[in-house]
Amino acid sequence: MNKNIQTFIGCDADYAEADIVLHGVPFDGTTSFRPGTRFGPSAMRSESFGIETYSPYCDRDLTHLSVFDAGDLELPFGDSQKVLSLVEERTEAFLKDGKIPVMLGGEHLITVGAMRAMVKKYPDLHVVHLDAHTDLRDDYLGETLSHACAIRRVWELVGDGKIYQFGIRSGERDEFIFASEHNHLHKFDLSGWNEMLTALGNYPVYFTLDLDVLDPSGFCGTGTPEAGGITFTELLRAVLTLSRLNIVGCDIVELSPHYDHSGASTAAACKITREILLQIKGA
Ligand code: MN
Ligand code: MN
Repeated sequence: MNKNIQTFIGCDADYAEADIVLHGVPFDGTTSFRPGTRFGPSAMRSESFGIETYSPYCDRDLTHLSVFDAGDLELPFGDSQKVLSLVEERTEAFLKDGKIPVMLGGEHLITVGAMRAMVKKYPDLHVVHLDAHTDLRDDYLGETLSHACAIRRVWELVGDGKIYQFGIRSGERDEFIFASEHNHLHKFDLSGWNEMLTALGNYPVYFTLDLDVLDPSGFCGTGTPEAGGITFTELLRAVLTLSRLNIVGCDIVELSPHYDHSGASTAAACKITREILLQIKGA
């Protein structure tokens, strides 16, 4: 008999042999509207057994990759700075061991912790960001460490011209002005995606997927649903081109499983995670 240990389906390599390390950060301490993303990673692990390891889209199988599931970080709730330090430390450890970190959220603020480690190893890191929201506020009700400020904090780490945002359909006017001056922001959909692939072909890339980029009619399991989003098929088509990039790290955030009692949102999150893993080069 084996120990009862739950991993994401097909992700049962040993740490030493793994190219990719999957890990969960069940944090929703700064969620501005409806909390619940802390349940994202555990829901994805258990529901992942409802999907196949094989992808008929790219004719690859998770069981042919070496992915280690490191489980969830244990977190001090209520202390965002400490949480970000723990995420940074853990990401740095994975990078030192030559692994590609894939983080399951949790809310979007956790990306900042991962990025602090990523930019130390990759000073020329570029970022591809899919989201309904700009996440470019300098502060949210006085709090600079909020999921509404996540990409603004990432910009502080990488600088001008390095962040490509897609699917964005919500934010303050000032955020859109900020984006037009500092980032490459594509409103509403994935227009500009192919140009981004060409532009970033030679750079290390961090891919951050806020699942609320999806239309809530097909994906309601998130804390801040925003109508007018892209379809799952549109997202999938984009993800299937990620092998053209040098993805050195990524995250999938903002799944809040309990808002979708049908389980369809969690199933979608599992499926897109499988496809992302299968697109990572060198894995
Ligand atoms: Mn976000
Ligand atoms: Mn969002």
